[in-house]
Amino acid sequence: PLKNYTIDMFSPSIIKDDSKCIRCQRCVRTCAELQGVNALTVAYKGDKMKISTFFEKPMNDVVCTNCGQCIIHCPTGALIERNYIEEVWSAISDPTKHVIIQTAPAVRVGLGEEMGMEPGERVTGKMVAALKRLGFDSVLDTDFTADLTIVEEGNELLSRLKKALVDNNKDVKFPMLTSCSPGWIKYIEHLYPEYLGHLSTCKSPQQMFGSLAKTYYAKARNLDPSKIISVSIMPCTAKKFEAHRPEMHDSGYRDVDYVLTTRELAIMIKQAGLDFKELEPAKYDRLMGDSSGAGVIFGATGGVMEAALRTAYELITGRDVPFENLNIMPVRGVEGVRYASIKIEDPLKEWAFLDGVELKCAVAHGLVNAKQVMDDIKNGKSDFHFIEIMACPGGCLGGGGQPIPTNPEIRQKRTEAIYAEDADLPIRKSHMNPEIQKLYNDFLKEPLGELSHQLLHTTYTKRERY
Ligand code: SF4
Ligand code: SF4
Repeated sequence: PLKNYTIDMFSPSIIKDDSKCIRCQRCVRTCAELQGVNALTVAYKGDKMKISTFFEKPMNDVVCTNCGQCIIHCPTGALIERNYIEEVWSAISDPTKHVIIQTAPAVRVGLGEEMGMEPGERVTGKMVAALKRLGFDSVLDTDFTADLTIVEEGNELLSRLKKALVDNNKDVKFPMLTSCSPGWIKYIEHLYPEYLGHLSTCKSPQQMFGSLAKTYYAKARNLDPSKIISVSIMPCTAKKFEAHRPEMHDSGYRDVDYVLTTRELAIMIKQAGLDFKELEPAKYDRLMGDSSGAGVIFGATGGVMEAALRTAYELITGRDVPFENLNIMPVRGVEGVRYASIKIEDPLKEWAFLDGVELKCAVAHGLVNAKQVMDDIKNGKSDFHFIEIMACPGGCLGGGGQPIPTNPEIRQKRTEAIYAEDADLPIRKSHMNPEIQKLYNDFLKEPLGELSHQLLHTTYTKRERY
């Protein structure tokens, strides 16, 4: 083992414990080759050799995106997520607190693996049952705010198109880039900060949920927002950093208090001694627990694009998107970068200026592919209107907080499970989710309205390149 080792605990997402490191360098290669980030390097030689960063700065102060792909590949746990299990147990056992939990789309197709089940098992109902047994006061769904993201982001895309094509506004940025993957956000902030204006201003579903939890939910349930503890279960380590961003306090409190990975939830279920496989499936609680199939597929690469097209096409034309069973196959798959286009024909009167326009879209997953997309934009070779980018290979279902191992075969099984979940849901389009309609009727009033801007949209920060 290394002498004089350090344990870097400055990052809210990742702990780097050199005492456990066997210097196999898998993390260095993962960061460089899979993600193209190069946050980790090898320093010194011989028995002093160690895995380091730029000038040995803490992980939190360098270009690291917190994607957690190095954690997935580290054989010893020298790289691991920052764990918030104790904090969550104490919140649950505090009778003065109302603890609510949101579950990301990809968790329900990964958690089973930690519980001894085969990859690709859908455990949505068992997971909800387990969370209720653990003592959460309300079990709600990030898929609900995934649907909300689509309504806000779809309207943002249409508003940008209108400004560009009708008002001839040259300041409007195209392509518009998705903003729900916090690893991707940190990547662009460090490496392509001159393109931050291309990002959708929509917060991620996790953060939209957080700001509504302590406003809309608190009001509807007659709760003091200062007594609400908002927890999320994510397939992602970058979500922990995202929840700590100083701007994520739009509710007047920290919008999301604690973020746990799929792996941490599995630990809690085991600590509580629950026989997961035998649990009777339960249903999400109401108000922010309903979702469409479009919300579920956010967990797979191409899913945000597909969900957005299902809604945007209908807003423009009043008709279903022209793909069999609403399945937009060209945006699905495993290619690192994929392309699709839809020609708009016979739009509603309000969108007449889009008649004949070919809406061009692209999808990229894994940051090495994000680099290709960004370099194309930089070199003037990108004529797309809308691009979805996810930091992790496969999208969230291959996230750095998912069960280990995660490999291409396992990702494929989880992908099939996500699309099966979508196909089984009675509502497949985000704007048709009745709880989303109620949210606009009772609280937000309209997409991109004043309250939406205050609670659901955000800004980005230019960061250093090292
Ligand atoms: S979390 Fe991602 S970006 Fe950071 S060191 Fe690990 S692989 Fe690289
Ligand atoms: S993958 Fe883990 S054990 Fe291997 S060099 Fe990196 S931190 Fe050390």
